[in-house]
Amino acid sequence: MGPLEIDASYEGYESELRDAVHEVARDVVRPAGREIDRMRPDEVRELDHDKGVYADAMDAMHEVVPRSAFLPEEFGGDGMSGREFHTVMEELGWGSSGIAMGFAVDIMPPLFATLSFDDELRESYVEPFLSGELDHQGCWGVTEPAHGSETLQAESLLKEGNEDIAPPQVTARKEGDGYVINGAKAPWVSAGPLATHCALHVDVDASEGSHGGLAVVPLDAEGAERGTAIDKMGQRDCPQGDVSFNEVRIPDRNMVLGPDALHPDTGYVSFDQILCVTSCGVAAVSTGLARAAFEEALAYAREREQGGTPIAEHQTVKKKLYDMFEKVETARAYSRRVCEHVWDRTLESFEFDASHRHAVAGQVYCKRTAFEVAHDAVQIHGGNGITRDYPIEKMFRDARVKLIEDGTLDVLALESAEGIIDEYSI
Ligand SMILES: Cc1cc2nc3c(=O)[nH]c(=O)nc-3n(C[C@H](O)[C@H](O)[C@H](O)COP(=O)(O)OP(=O)(O)OC[C@H]3O[C@@H](n4cnc5c(N)ncnc54)[C@H](O)[C@@H]3O)c2cc1C
Repeated sequence: MGPLEIDASYEGYESELRDAVHEVARDVVRPAGREIDRMRPDEVRELDHDKGVYADAMDAMHEVVPRSAFLPEEFGGDGMSGREFHTVMEELGWGSSGIAMGFAVDIMPPLFATLSFDDELRESYVEPFLSGELDHQGCWGVTEPAHGSETLQAESLLKEGNEDIAPPQVTARKEGDGYVINGAKAPWVSAGPLATHCALHVDVDASEGSHGGLAVVPLDAEGAERGTAIDKMGQRDCPQGDVSFNEVRIPDRNMVLGPDALHPDTGYVSFDQILCVTSCGVAAVSTGLARAAFEEALAYAREREQGGTPIAEHQTVKKKLYDMFEKVETARAYSRRVCEHVWDRTLESFEFDASHRHAVAGQVYCKRTAFEVAHDAVQIHGGNGITRDYPIEKMFRDARVKLIEDGTLDVLALESAEGIIDEYSI
């Protein structure tokens, strides 16, 4: 049985989309996730974005959700709505949160290239990406070895004038009609070891004061390198590794957001707004993961008998199942609403004034929900919950790493609290 749906307007195309994505999530994404999860580290390092089990899963997902779905119509995409985005990411997260994240970061470099409003970059990069001509896996390089949580707190830290912060580790200097990039990101870049293009946060001309910029960098450029996949506990089906740059040259147009890339009509797309968009994806995927864990627990509790009755009939198990259901439904309702709001304020109106505190709260709430629900689902499985024979064991590990991905719960909450304390009107 699929999820209970109480939203009456959720019908027609949206429910067809959900069914189509669910089928791929069930038949391709979940088995592929399980297969990669069980690979040895050296086998994970051999994964390719272009062939093999990871690539097959990406292709199957793109059959039902083409790459063009994510980009606004104004830029040649299909202009998927925030609600449709939520539906897609929830279903893929239900299949496997790791593979869903690989799918989500794929879109980051072309999305930023689009938001640069540069015609040439659109023709040379975005259009071949949309048409499928370009062999592509995107990634998003933000975190640096010396700058983890700090990246999310940059504004408050700068406001406080904190001078003890380590210097930026990925820099771009202006040279002629382009930039030269140097440095390395932390080994946490999702899909980094497989990526062809990176949406890269860089410090532009640090000598003139710290300026955040965002560059689209092809990873086959001379001097660019992808690190090997790290061996890790969860979301093993989304290989993570560093990306590094040694005198990598990019043309001006590839510095898509930076001091010189402010669009006159839209203004600067600040890190806040980028985090609003990524929070939508993480919230929706986490909701899907929470739902998957709940469904595993429910199915198990209906079957497994103790004391002559299915364990679902025992009061404490019954209460746990209710609590899980309530959490999943709350996460779905809130993350769906946040996706609608953020899409409206960013990729639909191009106003870039989405509510950061709501988007971050969505991400924090849904990640916490995924972890709590997966935790209770393991408990309901008893001893079977810790074996690799049952899907819940992987889901629990995946849910655990989500508490750090895209910012730890504490740091995201602290950042959001600043906005709430300063701006909430009573
Ligand atoms: C699964 C996964 C996927 C990821 N994908 C990407 C990606 O695609 N691209 C990318 O660039 N990065 C990615 N990351 C990196 C991620 O954003 C960082 O790991 C995260 O922001 C935390 O940084 P850190 O690991 O350096 O921890 P640190 O910043 O060192 O934090 C360590 C601990 O200290 C706490 N802490 C730090 N500062 C404060 C504070 N001011 N107040 C209170 N507590 C504090 C934190 O909450 C945490 O518990 C990913 C990480 C994971 C786990």
